[in-house]
Amino acid sequence: MSKHVRRILRATRIRTLLLATTVAVVAASLPVGGHVTTAAAATTSCSAWMDTTKTPDQRAQALLAAMTQADKIALTQAPAEYASIGWAHYGVAGYIPSPDTSLCIPDLVFNDAGQGVGDLMTGTTAFPAPISQASSWDPVAQQAYGATLGAQAFAKGINIQLTPGIETDRVPLNGRNWEYMSEDPFLAGQTAAAVVRGIQAQNVIATIKHYVTNSQETNRSTDSSDIDARTLHELYLPQYQAAIQQAGAGAVMCSYNRINSVYACENRDTLTTALRTEMGFTGLVMADWGATHSTVASANAGLDIEMGSGTYYGTALQTAITNGQVSQATLDTMVLDILRPMFAEGLFDHPIAMGAAAQAAAAATPTDTPAQNTVAGQVAENGMVLLKNDGNVLPLTSPANTIAVIGGPATTPDALYTYNGGGSGHIPEAAYKANVITPLTGMQTLAATKTDAVIYANGNGPQFEDAVAAAKVASVAVVFAYTPETEGVDMSSLSMPPEGTHCELIGCTTGSGYNQDALISAVAAANPNTVVVLETGGPVLMPWLSQVKGVLEAWYPGQDEGDAIASVLFGDTDPAGHLTETFPASQADLPTTTTAQYPGISQPGDSVGPHSSYSEGLNVGYRWYDDMRLTPLFPFGYGLSYTSFAYSNYSVASAPPGDQASVSFDLTNIGKVAGAEVAQAYVGSPADNYVNEPLHQLRGYQKVTLQPGQTQHVTIALDPESTSYWDTTSQSWQPETGCHPVWVGSSSRDIELQGSGLDGSMQAVADCAASVSTYVPPVAAATVAVPVPSTGSASLTALLWGSALTIGGAALVVGRRRRRGRAPAS
Ligand code: BGC
Repeated sequence: MSKHVRRILRATRIRTLLLATTVAVVAASLPVGGHVTTAAAATTSCSAWMDTTKTPDQRAQALLAAMTQADKIALTQAPAEYASIGWAHYGVAGYIPSPDTSLCIPDLVFNDAGQGVGDLMTGTTAFPAPISQASSWDPVAQQAYGATLGAQAFAKGINIQLTPGIETDRVPLNGRNWEYMSEDPFLAGQTAAAVVRGIQAQNVIATIKHYVTNSQETNRSTDSSDIDARTLHELYLPQYQAAIQQAGAGAVMCSYNRINSVYACENRDTLTTALRTEMGFTGLVMADWGATHSTVASANAGLDIEMGSGTYYGTALQTAITNGQVSQATLDTMVLDILRPMFAEGLFDHPIAMGAAAQAAAAATPTDTPAQNTVAGQVAENGMVLLKNDGNVLPLTSPANTIAVIGGPATTPDALYTYNGGGSGHIPEAAYKANVITPLTGMQTLAATKTDAVIYANGNGPQFEDAVAAAKVASVAVVFAYTPETEGVDMSSLSMPPEGTHCELIGCTTGSGYNQDALISAVAAANPNTVVVLETGGPVLMPWLSQVKGVLEAWYPGQDEGDAIASVLFGDTDPAGHLTETFPASQADLPTTTTAQYPGISQPGDSVGPHSSYSEGLNVGYRWYDDMRLTPLFPFGYGLSYTSFAYSNYSVASAPPGDQASVSFDLTNIGKVAGAEVAQAYVGSPADNYVNEPLHQLRGYQKVTLQPGQTQHVTIALDPESTSYWDTTSQSWQPETGCHPVWVGSSSRDIELQGSGLDGSMQAVADCAASVSTYVPPVAAATVAVPVPSTGSASLTALLWGSALTIGGAALVVGRRRRRGRAPAS
């Protein structure tokens, strides 16, 4: 048994033991908080820092002056009884009691995570996974989701929610990518900012995590992410910057891994230089549970709170201060970092339930009201991505049709492993919601209202006889397939595992059921109208793609999974999601195929753990496929609708100094039903590309809902950094001179409008076309297997870089190869 597996098993056992103990405690409703004074009752003596006309920093300074040394130390660490991994305070992940309620300091109650209010809390909504939230490309909906999550957290007596997870999806095999947002930092940043705004509007601090380069679960506590400064700044930090600068995220969680050999929670380069100096972060940094490895190095690097271990701060921190290894000023800075977001996000002015009785009552009160559960269904529908729809097989037609619903994940038990991703973010963490609507139930319920019949086969017949028989008598066959994923383990393959594979907490067990790919092929052979519904946490391989007519990616859709999927399949809701990750045609195409890159190899003299070399540099996700001229199965940004859209009337406007440029165009719904388009703006590199930037990068997008025949003029802002690169000499963003083409389209490979561009100073250049002509032509034109919307516009003209080629049938041709292959960024 490998060290890694042993570690996971040990951690699982610890969690399970603690779980048993804690469930007993919670069930008996034993109050453990021990504080009865409410903030309101003590307000008069706290007037210096309860004055809301002062800034959060002024209020924090005033309170700091009134705190004892013991109060300060207490705020930086959960006390021993709450310090371990477990859920000793009403089942939440972490708890720091108020050091002094007479100073009106509220308790800090930490809870997971991005799919709802979790840990051992019950009576909360299981929302869709973050990848589903991100796939909507809809900041308004994402903010509304965040507000619902924040409201449930606050009602449960929680004031720090441990979400959103926003790491760049570098390795599609990462077992936690479903908990993150995208392979693109701009998209991840805008999504994160929206979710943070929503959560923090409820007087709950949001936590952006896991900072940073936490790209894999394999060896997550020992591996070193070896990365150069330019790649770090261009691909792994921008989403943190967006969540901090645009939404004022109050907390950052540093990760388990090392960065360039130094643990993330004692890494001064990332915790102080990047986070505080460059991004201007003024909030608190907490360690992931058990991710603290030192007292002096951590405190001096910028870690404010130790969580999940209870070893290195507390008494040990006071000793280090007494010995002069950590200065008193450093401790005061740590306390101010913690207090500032507490004031800024209303934790003092709108305190959570305080005192044992009130907290027990809050924790025990269900918050999953029907209205809030409805939000979960809406988020799920908004994030579903229609990948293929040949012959308009979807939406399902009614009435009087027979629909064969096929596959284990359509019903329990598999359906319980598909509504959420697993691990600390599961709702609830170590159990399953009772009121999950399975896909089969959702399909049956909606079909009944349309007088359609649903028949079901689970596919477990030795030669799929049951599934084939059902498919043969049905007008359409809908096969459900899945890949469960969880914290603590990566996937060994992008192929879907055998049916029956289940993941719980931080481990998966391989099922003994059928081969999911083989089932799909067998059903497709029996029924020409076969649709596959995928419930996965990221890209999977689809060897059967050409055999089926439709594919819908539903991700992990939350507790309303069945209703949400049925609503999209029947066309009551337009599929409105687009991919936030490239789906590769083959695992061999991934940008991280060497073991030196992933999962890492050991280095002489380093006994801590292996090193993963980020040698692909800027070539992550679509940047890699573009640069290597590889044909993905489905490109980044891709997603179909039941209607289609036309783009026209394009113009690019210069940026006023230090401000944003923009690209404008008309978008028209030229189909027959209402629908939403995600219009995307990409900024390319100039002709000579002397700093070797990626070919084109997402710099703006807008989701637009249009009625049939409706046109909207759309303007997408482009950030000042759109034509710049991170210069490692000056350690700053520097413009790359030359004309950067501005492209608009519905995916990274469907460019509908182009012609103009921006120079390095973000000034508009009327004709930028010349810049792309210098790319050398490909040796042989590559055919891209990108299914084109069968409902698509006849006027759809895809102008990809290099040659302009019309999308006519089912393929388009990729333009030209970059003149030089990309050297790893330096
Ligand atoms: C996870 C964090 C989580 C924490 C508390 C850790 O194992 O990595 O994402 O917030 O546990 O449950």
